Amino acid sequence: MVILFIFLRLVWGSAWGEVKGRAAEELLEEWTDDDESGGKKTDNLIKLYVFADKYDVPRLKLDTLLELFMHITTDDVGLPSSSQCRYAFENLPEGSPLLHFLLDAHCFYASDKYWHLQEAEDFPPAFINGILIRYTAYASGDRTRSVGFDICDYHDHKEYKDRNRCEWAAGVCY
Ligand SMILES: [Zn+2]
Repeated sequence: MVILFIFLRLVWGSAWGEVKGRAAEELLEEWTDDDESGGKKTDNLIKLYVFADKYDVPRLKLDTLLELFMHITTDDVGLPSSSQCRYAFENLPEGSPLLHFLLDAHCFYASDKYWHLQEAEDFPPAFINGILIRYTAYASGDRTRSVGFDICDYHDHKEYKDRNRCEWAAGVCY
């Protein structure tokens, strides 16, 4: 009910810009309570991102992606599961920043042991294809693991210098 109320404020708020930004923060907080392993928070953030994409709430998408980025890269919670990846790939358009992040995170953190424990058929074909494309780039030397992550890789900045002014980056770079 709280989420519905906040969403209605998002859609029909009178002071559109102010309400939209504040409501996005409140909605994010509602969805980021966590269990011990961090899996619930990962699950909720992916679903919240899909929700924000479906209802076209850009601010909420940016906030959610940053929260997921920090959760995965700093909280030592492990990678999103195959079912979480499947949900994202089945509900987001091709080229979505969240899909890029899921692929990059797997290529960066997954070991051969991790992949031995996975069943390839549990992942969507587009995910497997994306992983192969990235690993091919690693193998050919076009991409290196040492480069790591930059949250701005998942923003639509027109020019590189715009990253310096990005309010969602705030020095976040791994
Ligand atoms: Zn940025």
